[in-house]
Amino acid sequence: MTPSPPPPPPKEHQPVSETTVSDPTRLPSHLPLNTPHRFYCGGQRILAFRGLDVPPDFDDHRPEDWLASTTRLFAEGGDGVTVLDDGTRLPDALATDPDHWLGPDHVAAHGVEPGLLTKLLDAGERLPVHSHPDRAFAAAHLDCDHGKTEAWIVLDAEPSACVWLGFREELPPDELATLVEAQDERLLAALNRIEVAPGDALLVPGGQPHAIGEGVFVLELQEPTDLSVMLEHRRFGLEEAHAFLGLTVPRALESVDRGPLTAEGLAALRRRWTDVTGVGHALPEEAAAFFRAEVLRATSDAPATGGAAFAVVVAVAGNGVLTTGTDATGTDATETVSPRTTEVARGDVLLVPYGAGDVRLEGDVTVIRCMPPV
Ligand SMILES: [Zn+2]
Repeated sequence: MTPSPPPPPPKEHQPVSETTVSDPTRLPSHLPLNTPHRFYCGGQRILAFRGLDVPPDFDDHRPEDWLASTTRLFAEGGDGVTVLDDGTRLPDALATDPDHWLGPDHVAAHGVEPGLLTKLLDAGERLPVHSHPDRAFAAAHLDCDHGKTEAWIVLDAEPSACVWLGFREELPPDELATLVEAQDERLLAALNRIEVAPGDALLVPGGQPHAIGEGVFVLELQEPTDLSVMLEHRRFGLEEAHAFLGLTVPRALESVDRGPLTAEGLAALRRRWTDVTGVGHALPEEAAAFFRAEVLRATSDAPATGGAAFAVVVAVAGNGVLTTGTDATGTDATETVSPRTTEVARGDVLLVPYGAGDVRLEGDVTVIRCMPPV
């Protein structure tokens, strides 16, 4: 029999208590659906992916599922923040124990903010041509530390479905202003058109104009803002104040990369995430300053492992078992973490706190761990 444990140390050195560690919100948990109403249509692929029925009153304007979000919509009602299954808003949960949720290194570098917005996005129609400010523009004109570099990990796509990214030719400022004023099809026609298929991944740097075509279903990683310059807005019925972030049109257009985005530049932004065997990055290296998308692909004879991290874990293929706490003693010497297994299958979306420890994936299953930058 093991001897009884020593008495607890004085309060200021109190380790995380057993009751706190066993609190289910501190272990891998399934993320509830979080689909705010948007101006464009879509959403059925999200429900299908997550194995949910389409409700009879489905309004077809739920095209985005905001996963582990601490971000609010810029307009359209301001929803978006994740509420955990126990009713706690995610920012409040993080604030109760930042080191456990995010890890002490992350908290020291970035504060009590994941610094990441992860979404499932189902384009039920082509999205408007838009761009997002980069960090420098957001800091100078929007009083915000984050721009909105984003990345698309294509999970599903209709045959011949496509996305558009970057102007093919350089557009002088007055020509961009003319196209935005005209609000016709020339704006889309000026962009690189890229056919996409499941397995594609693209990084979309802040400033680059883009659109996602109808029938494309992506896992999307973004800097945690909802700052968009809606270059195309009239056909979507968006107010100018919403379309241009409350800035004057000329000022807002200064945030747009007028190109060109060449074939070579485009190639540098692309990857095939399905080419990863074992463990590897879904996105180009340049993404690492903003977020990390790590593919863990386990096969029947080779598990895949990952280090402790705050992560949105999205199972994208197959099924198997995710074990957390495989480092047994936990990531913090004061904390006891028992290994814990969770069955995972395509469509499952888990939130895994840093304090849950190292992870091991077994079975015939692929997950993508969406994580803040290091
Ligand atoms: Zn975008």
